[in-house]
Amino acid sequence: MWLIILFFIAHWYLSVFAQSFFLHRYAAHGMFRMSRFWFRFFYLFTWISQGSSFLNPRAYAILHMEHHKHSDTEHDPHSPHFFEDVISMMLNTKRVYQDILAGKYDNRPDIAIKDYPSWPMVDRIGDSWATRIGFAILYTGFYLTFAPHPAWFALLPVHFLMGPVHGAFVNWCGHKYGYANFDNGDHSRNTFVWDLFFVGECFQNNHHRYPRRANFAKRWFEIDVTYPVIKALDLVGIIKLKT
Ligand SMILES: [Zn+2]
Ligand SMILES: [Zn+2]
Repeated sequence: MWLIILFFIAHWYLSVFAQSFFLHRYAAHGMFRMSRFWFRFFYLFTWISQGSSFLNPRAYAILHMEHHKHSDTEHDPHSPHFFEDVISMMLNTKRVYQDILAGKYDNRPDIAIKDYPSWPMVDRIGDSWATRIGFAILYTGFYLTFAPHPAWFALLPVHFLMGPVHGAFVNWCGHKYGYANFDNGDHSRNTFVWDLFFVGECFQNNHHRYPRRANFAKRWFEIDVTYPVIKALDLVGIIKLKT
């Protein structure tokens, strides 16, 4: 039983850390730089930890910057204030993401595609159905080997869809519930205790106010658990913070 719990927690946190650290703060916002070696290391780390729900970093970055540009307006890919429920919001997010992947945003004058990092070979492998199904088989094999009771299999869909599960919570709750430190002209909110499951991503209100600031916490009682990791990586020279 403990192996299953450990596996679930490890997959949850590695995946959400990859999303927050690499996809969000690096690929979308460019908050820090890294060498070619570490770029490849963290690209592979993101692919492996997201596994069956790997998100193309460049497509994620463009999608996310559309969210910042149009936060909580009808052009926002995932504002909870324009959708009946979280499923329809995530289906629209997927539609915009697929359009970006299909190249429909490539010639937009307001988007500089080349500014967003890409490793086409890993994108191709990570985005193929064979790879996604391969990861799903690995997760299932782990549960078949170590789960003491079939009820544990109910957790498998979360493993299969780990990235979208995180996205659904952050996008829906981060613009609907909690408190605001700043008036950003949108519905972005902060939630503190809840955020411990999302490594900084639920400080949406602070982040929309200071989108290039690597620390998503602002007030004395707020803690962005990804930020100390970023500071440590900066200190040892693996990344170079821009601010
Ligand atoms: Zn937001
Ligand atoms: Zn952002």
